Amino acid sequence: MKGFAMLKIGQVGWIEKEKPTCGVMDAIVKPIAVSPCSSDVHTVWAGALGDRHDMILGHEAVGEVVEVGSLVKDFKVGDKVIVPAITPDWNSLEAQAGYSMHSGGMLAGWKFSNFKDGVFAEYFHVNDADGNLALLPDDVDPIEAVMLCDMVPTGVHGAELADIKFGDSVCVIGIGPVGLMAVRASAIRGTSRLFAVGSRPNCIEVAKDFGATDIINYKNGDIVEQVMEKTKGKGVDRVIIAGGDIETFVQATNILKPGGTIGNVNYLGSGDFVKIPRLAWGNGMAHKTIVGGLMPGGRLRIEKLVSLIQSKRINPKKLITHTFNGMEHIEEALLLMKDKPRNLIKPVVIF
Ligand code: NDP
Ligand code: ZN
Repeated sequence: MKGFAMLKIGQVGWIEKEKPTCGVMDAIVKPIAVSPCSSDVHTVWAGALGDRHDMILGHEAVGEVVEVGSLVKDFKVGDKVIVPAITPDWNSLEAQAGYSMHSGGMLAGWKFSNFKDGVFAEYFHVNDADGNLALLPDDVDPIEAVMLCDMVPTGVHGAELADIKFGDSVCVIGIGPVGLMAVRASAIRGTSRLFAVGSRPNCIEVAKDFGATDIINYKNGDIVEQVMEKTKGKGVDRVIIAGGDIETFVQATNILKPGGTIGNVNYLGSGDFVKIPRLAWGNGMAHKTIVGGLMPGGRLRIEKLVSLIQSKRINPKKLITHTFNGMEHIEEALLLMKDKPRNLIKPVVIF
């Protein structure tokens, strides 16, 4: 079969591979629609996971089941499914401890385009099918549903990590597709003032639509100064980081009130250390919590999130700015994610 792969750090291309084989608890899925992710860009061009050779990329796909293992109970050939980017081993001790995304080792619940071939192929393999496939409801568009593989659950996780409570003031740093879903998730959780930091006009428009009350353009001056001025020097209760780099933690700590929480979902692609400013951290005594997490995967979570589309609580269609017809356009779509033109939020490739 054909797949679009990372050939080595900084290089991508089409390769031929054997169709994957199906274990007794697994499924083989044929993509209907896929989307490239900023994480694919960090993996290939920043070499953030280390070197990978001829590894098929992609971890966001909606597809059709073409084969199931003999022990799979709830899915059959022909089912249309949403496949989460993170597909844990649900029998692992890490999953039993509540951290399924780290099943088998740190970040090892992230298998596609990390430890095994991803979804930019004619077929791909899903482990633990009953636990990791989510049925696509008939009334949900498969193109929109691709946003449920990673963008929606990661944005939602940002709001969970930041532990947002009713009435909290929140700043979401980074409003690409992940940050935008974090804005929406924060609004649903009951924020009061909701700052959104970004510069692309499309993203700003969607951030407002998703519930942001204030837009901070980080290109127009220091984020800290802008947020402190708008909050009369107080700062915010919670910060979600969904963009920027290792320096962003300095700004996040500076705008956070004592007792506040920073929830990071940004993939830090380079740099050895994250800096925490001592004074803004109350010399170590400000009760400022910093948490970072890989999105939780699995069927239950995705089926719950799809119900948020059905009940019109979220509208991830607004993230999709570019659609391509035909698998051959994957490279073009991935390069868009790399170059981030001003009018881009997220591309989808329909097979
Ligand atoms: P995008 O690149 O589309 O968005 C990044 C956002 O950050 C943009 O709004 C950008 O602004 C803003 N930004 C860039 N630099 C700065 C800066 N110096 N200060 C403040 N804001 C800045 O990324 P995605 O939304 O696609 O993904 C966000 C991150 O989430 C990525 O690192 C991705 O790899 C990661 N991720 C993590 C997952 C997890 O499980 N934890 C899963 C999926 C993705 P501008 O408007 O100017 O572009
Ligand atoms: Zn991703």
